[in-house]
Amino acid sequence: MKTLLVGECREGKLLESSYELFGFAAQLGAETAMVLIGNQGALPGYGGAVYLADAGKYGEYNPDLHKRLVQAAVEREKPDYVVFMHTSYGWDLAPRVAALLQAPQVSEVVALAEGGFERPCCSQKMRQVVQPVGSPVVLTLQGGAFPALVPGGAPQQQPLDVDGEGRTEFLGYEAAVRKGVDLTRAEIIVSAGRGVGKKENLPVIAELAKVLGGEVGASRPVVDSGWMEAGAQVGVTGQTVSPKLYIACGISGAIQHLAGMKKSGFIVAINKDKDAPIGEVADVLVVADVMQFVPALTAKLAK
Ligand code: FAD
Repeated sequence: MKTLLVGECREGKLLESSYELFGFAAQLGAETAMVLIGNQGALPGYGGAVYLADAGKYGEYNPDLHKRLVQAAVEREKPDYVVFMHTSYGWDLAPRVAALLQAPQVSEVVALAEGGFERPCCSQKMRQVVQPVGSPVVLTLQGGAFPALVPGGAPQQQPLDVDGEGRTEFLGYEAAVRKGVDLTRAEIIVSAGRGVGKKENLPVIAELAKVLGGEVGASRPVVDSGWMEAGAQVGVTGQTVSPKLYIACGISGAIQHLAGMKKSGFIVAINKDKDAPIGEVADVLVVADVMQFVPALTAKLAK
């Protein structure tokens, strides 16, 4: 079995998340080759085939040309799977590649399953297993679902070229204006989830953060409900944080949240459900009502 992994490069550098593609291939027990469009350095430590295309020629992102570059690598490697990360790059490019190859696509894969791939559905309330028919299959992987990995060896680099022009011009990156605190620098974060119940309960979370000298974060529903500003969101579409201590209050542990905080040094979760998925990454899971436990903890710490 063979995978063609499509790495994501930004301004000449391979994004860290691309190493999760190797973790996926290892779980699948598949051989790997990689496409890198615009990576200026060799891929450190990787021993497979690397198809290198020049960003100067093909643009930082140019979907018409990038999809044809991937197609050219597919023709050479004949993989069973063409795999992207589920980033804005993969989101945009993978369906174009699937359409070009007339191939089935499964998006947002979070795990391997018997004969197929597991992905969330129904607004993340359920998981479904998809068994794609045909080859190759185009996949995108949810960030944080597979471990980052770099297989060893000396890379075999090969140039990748296509003719023609694209219909899109890449103008440049614009940094998002970040409102509020920069959680990426915080050493302690106390985050509120939907389990906190209502906006009026949030001062309880803020008090704990204050006593600990930390910052307040949030899961997406808390932000979507307008209880906290967007800058506080932790997760795949929020900030990626790695504080020394992360306290998750009333947060279930959806994969999109875990992707943003599971590298924290020590994780405490407070949840009334002993089987909440956050327990899988937590060092300590306190099974309690957040509105009873957190004020009691704050009072104890304040003494
Ligand atoms: P819920 O899943 O509703 O969990 C609430 C938890 O609180 C439950 O475990 C419950 O047992 C517990 N609870 C309830 N009452 C109490 C109580 N009184 N005391 C203690 N515990 C209690 N989510 C993010 O967080 N960040 C992201 O960046 C993000 N990006 C996303 C991107 C996409 C494309 C999609 C589709 C989803 C994204 N999500 C993100 C949403 C994610 O899938 C989950 O829906 C979300 O993380 C759930 O938030 P939650 O844990 O606060 O709420």
